[in-house]
Amino acid sequence: MNAMTTRAEHQMQFLFALRSKGVTDARVLTAMEKTDRAMFVTGHFADRAYEDMPLPIACGQTISQPSVVGLMTQALQVNPRDKVLEVGTGSGYQAVILSHLARRVYTVDRHKTLMNEARAVFQTLDITNLTAFTADGSHGLPDQAPFDRILVTAAAEDPPGPLLAQLKVGGIMVLPVGQSDSVQTLIRVTRSETGFEYEELRPVRFVPLLEGLGKD
Ligand code: SAH
Repeated sequence: MNAMTTRAEHQMQFLFALRSKGVTDARVLTAMEKTDRAMFVTGHFADRAYEDMPLPIACGQTISQPSVVGLMTQALQVNPRDKVLEVGTGSGYQAVILSHLARRVYTVDRHKTLMNEARAVFQTLDITNLTAFTADGSHGLPDQAPFDRILVTAAAEDPPGPLLAQLKVGGIMVLPVGQSDSVQTLIRVTRSETGFEYEELRPVRFVPLLEGLGKD
């Protein structure tokens, strides 16, 4: 992008791309407008932060495509009083967006390196309603459960049992499911008094939800 392009122009293009891909919820758009994606992308990809594409981050992981972040956040229907769990902190970008929408956000990643980098950004931004843990998020966070909303940003073959168990009645979980090497489906799970309802939202492609802690 042209070096003379101002941050305001970047923002306009960025928001336009989000809207044209179906992100129309005003609260979600405002939260994304407040969250500068350039803070979450380092190295030689930093100048592509405002493009609607996934980008590589440390530990062989990726920061998701902004329009996918927007559509997932929108599908989660976060209310201002909600306690939210995100599994797959990665760069921390999605977690910060959620922190602008919810009362309390917990985020977990299995890589310590990513967690340290994300925590540094959370501190710089002075976000006080967001807590980050290094852990295998497929077990959820039993000490903080139950949650009003759960967002998983790595693909499992099926919704992990502990996450379903940690969802409140009336709660919503959004996650990609499917094999890691093929097209996955973004689904929304809603918990009712009597069970779980499943809706298929769209095809997506995410890194796999892996077991245990990462080596770095
Ligand atoms: N939400 C991130 C992008 C996530 S990429 C962002 O906004 O940047 C997926 C992340 O899920 C990776 O960082 C990966 O380390 C993490 N992950 C994969 N399996 C996991 C598990 N079992 N528990 C916690 N994190 C996991």
